[in-house]
Amino acid sequence: MSQTFHNSIGGRWVPARSGRTFKNLNPATGEVLGEFPESGPEDVAAAVDAARGALRSWQLTPAPKRGELLYKLGALIASQKEDLARAATREMGKILIETRGDVQEGVDMAYLAAGEGRRLYGVTTPSEMPNKWAMSVRVPIGVVGVITAWNFPFAVPTWKIFPALVAGNTVVFKPSEETPEMGWHLARLLEEVGLPPGVLNVVQGNGPNVGWPIVQHPGVDVLSFTGSNAVGTRIATEGARLGKRVSLEMGGKNGVIVMDDADLSLAANAVAWGAFGTTGQRCTATSRVIVHERVHDELVRLVVQRAQALKLGNGLDAGVEMGPLVNAKQLERVSGYMKVGVDEGAKVSAGGARAAGEGLEHGFFFQPTVLTDVQPGMRVAQEEIFGPVVSFVRVKSLEEAIAVNNATPFGLSSSIFTGSVNAAFTAMRDLATGIVYVNHGTTGAETHLPFGGTRGTGNGHREAGHTMLDAFTEWKSVYVDFSGKVQRAQIDNN
Ligand code: NAD
Repeated sequence: MSQTFHNSIGGRWVPARSGRTFKNLNPATGEVLGEFPESGPEDVAAAVDAARGALRSWQLTPAPKRGELLYKLGALIASQKEDLARAATREMGKILIETRGDVQEGVDMAYLAAGEGRRLYGVTTPSEMPNKWAMSVRVPIGVVGVITAWNFPFAVPTWKIFPALVAGNTVVFKPSEETPEMGWHLARLLEEVGLPPGVLNVVQGNGPNVGWPIVQHPGVDVLSFTGSNAVGTRIATEGARLGKRVSLEMGGKNGVIVMDDADLSLAANAVAWGAFGTTGQRCTATSRVIVHERVHDELVRLVVQRAQALKLGNGLDAGVEMGPLVNAKQLERVSGYMKVGVDEGAKVSAGGARAAGEGLEHGFFFQPTVLTDVQPGMRVAQEEIFGPVVSFVRVKSLEEAIAVNNATPFGLSSSIFTGSVNAAFTAMRDLATGIVYVNHGTTGAETHLPFGGTRGTGNGHREAGHTMLDAFTEWKSVYVDFSGKVQRAQIDNN
């Protein structure tokens, strides 16, 4: 019998008020992993009440003390890393080395955010008047609604929740309905290190019944979202109408440029890892290779070789290199793009279909796929497929490669492989994405650098790094006049 899990609201573990539940499935085997509350607006309202109730005392807790909880949390997560990674692989399918990385990112983020408890730097500056002091300080905003995707089920929530908490906000968190168990773990771990009741509340369920009520609830001041453009855009529109701060991390269509002086074996390895790692279901996945015509055929050969050699299976099994897609809908979506590509003139040089074979019967497996003869304007070169599919676009020059890279609706990550310093620096300057790699694929962000993208990928915010507090704090400017007089700025001294 599968385990039954509850929401965490005001420090209590409770079922959905409706009593309804949904099943959490293993995408590699179809096995039921657990039953989670299928919550609704009434559960969200209770969570927001709890978060508002906890706000004052959490804000008055000294920031270094808030940080200390995150230090303890980092150590606790590290001590349970293997179990957490296995749970993540079970519920969303990516292979164990990747879920270990996902959990490690949570550890790194806990320590990074913990340090902010002893920084949270403000700015002091001279006043233009005598005997007057001027400074600006960061203050928490209030209740933060966190809504996340399933592909980094542990790391991504930590990019949002830890900075929000250390800054003195309280949180209502809706994990993806594909990965409710990792959301549950986060709440349990924070409870174990002594986070006061109501400071983090977790409400499980789907987008329309839990996510949207969080977006609309007047008691939620900030919305921090990671997911698709379709949903993010709706949230941004509604958030603007309601006057909320909205931070969005959305899709990508990330390109690797490979120049004719590149180390092709290195580039092929990086493309294979970037395109097929996490079964292509990363926002930073390599989904386009923009390759110089002189090395095009050789690079295709190397990447096809790597694609065809990958071992598919249950991510918990030793030796497996690529797991399943997360659900039947994703399988349908990725399969659908094969027809779209071929109809537009692309050639399938590897893969292109659902994967069959021993051990794959009950999961949502898709073959690692290489599309060639892709033109920059084709849908497979413009739209986020979110599966193990990489499209090759042939170019004649660096200028053309950069122009092709920049001509999509997204701007998350990009990369160039070259031996030329001049080409590398030109690309670093001209690639219009939030993240640029040189001689490294499009994935592999580190938590102490800002993360996010331009154009359709985001709305100007950056998570983690030295920017981590920006979405979750307001600036307050404070003037202290000790002159004993009414000093009129801009008037009395001019
Ligand atoms: P999704 O947009 O379908 O869902 C994301 C979250 O939004 C889920 O929790 C979902 O339940 C919720 N949601 C759905 N409808 C909603 C609604 N009407 N109101 C409020 N919430 C709603 O995305 P997904 O399939 O879970 O994730 C894949 C997407 O996430 C891809 O586009 C990927 O690129 C993106 N992603 C981006 C980043 C990044 O940092 N840029 C990181 C990971 C994933």
